[in-house]
Amino acid sequence: MSFDSLGLMPELLRAVREQGYEIPTPIQIQAIPLVLEGRDLMGRAQTGTGKTAGFTLPMLQLLAPHANTSASPARHPIRALILTPTRELAMQVEESVRTYGRHIPLRSTTIFGGVNINPQTKALRAGVEIVVATPGRLLDHQGQGNLNFSQLEILVLDEADRMLDMGFIRDIQKILGLLPAKRQTLLFSATFTDEIKQLASKFLRTPATVQITPQNTAAELVRQVVHPVDRERKRALLSHIIQTRKLEQVLVFTRTKHGANRLSEQLDKDGISSLAIHGNKSQPQRIKALEDFKRGAVRVLVATDIAARGLDIDTLPHVVNYELPQVPEDYIHRIGRTGRAGSEGEALSLVCVDEHSLLKDIEKLLRKELTKDVIHGYAPDPSIPAEPIQTGRQGGGSRGRGPARGPRPASGLAPRGERGRHPSRPGARGK
Ligand code: AMP
Repeated sequence: MSFDSLGLMPELLRAVREQGYEIPTPIQIQAIPLVLEGRDLMGRAQTGTGKTAGFTLPMLQLLAPHANTSASPARHPIRALILTPTRELAMQVEESVRTYGRHIPLRSTTIFGGVNINPQTKALRAGVEIVVATPGRLLDHQGQGNLNFSQLEILVLDEADRMLDMGFIRDIQKILGLLPAKRQTLLFSATFTDEIKQLASKFLRTPATVQITPQNTAAELVRQVVHPVDRERKRALLSHIIQTRKLEQVLVFTRTKHGANRLSEQLDKDGISSLAIHGNKSQPQRIKALEDFKRGAVRVLVATDIAARGLDIDTLPHVVNYELPQVPEDYIHRIGRTGRAGSEGEALSLVCVDEHSLLKDIEKLLRKELTKDVIHGYAPDPSIPAEPIQTGRQGGGSRGRGPARGPRPASGLAPRGERGRHPSRPGARGK
């Protein structure tokens, strides 16, 4: 199967070729023709499957008839809105829009919080066909009268499950209320939970469904190993692995922001250059951290789940779960940072006695047992009892969810994630 057989226009095929893509990924093969037909779509796929091109390419083609180089804002009404849970994902999706759309004169911009609103206002007023936004800041612009969705044709909800996890349901509902009822809606989510299905049944019209299960994407390509170790020896083991195996470009996950900072400091003490990335960092700090990591200036990037969500780092060779995630699906998201689009990767998990039940849940989800490899000198002491897992709920954690797994809180009551804030709400962060 080649890109040529998907019905894409020459300008897009050229951009794809320039990216060096030779064959479409499974989600692209399935999604592109359906979106081109104008169908609503529910796509079950996470980052790393090529889903962004899967919706961006056909979206650009559908909007191409409107492309023009006029300077008049009236000639550039908003035609497509892409909602994402995080700023990082918004930036990356918009970069894809620019990349794939480089031979089509359509304008695009990002809208997200934590940065000055004025340049965004200016971009919106100048006219822009494709807006990639996080929900809170988009509503700020709505409040300021900067948005007109009357010409909107396409809505994309990207990583919808994560948007719900982060407590964006009300914002999403408000935004949907602003859009024309007659439109094409595409929803992408790593999981199809009941909440997602509810959202889809309310806002999508007889959607086609495409599914890329983790089993036949990243999870299959990634070599996954569990290193059992004592809680207190994880840091030493991590340094040992990085140093003895001479690992470069390692993405390390911790459960909490605090844990990310602490680990990064400790790695530095061990002579391993590292940076922490999480929601408390300013946007310029995060961008810089990611850039330093991408160009190899730092060896280790320590991240929380939300901060890492949507990070687009090509050919990332190693992911380390310094702590297992509270939610098994996050394990899949994490290891999706490696083994992307054809390249093989490795995911190591340092697992202590406290995390045995989390590991079981992950193995259940993967439907396989992970290989256990005790590293010489780091065998866990079986007399150490399990302790309850520290989540960052009170202590500044990366997830808005507490230790209890199971059913999520009712819509609207869901605890907010790092970025799930809006000025009208209590606890809104300063802009
Ligand atoms: P995504 O799942 O959209 O985050 O994409 C994951 C990565 O795969 C991105 O770095 C894309 O640039 C890359 N990619 C997307 N489609 C293809 C393709 N058909 N061939 C090779 N790489 C691709």
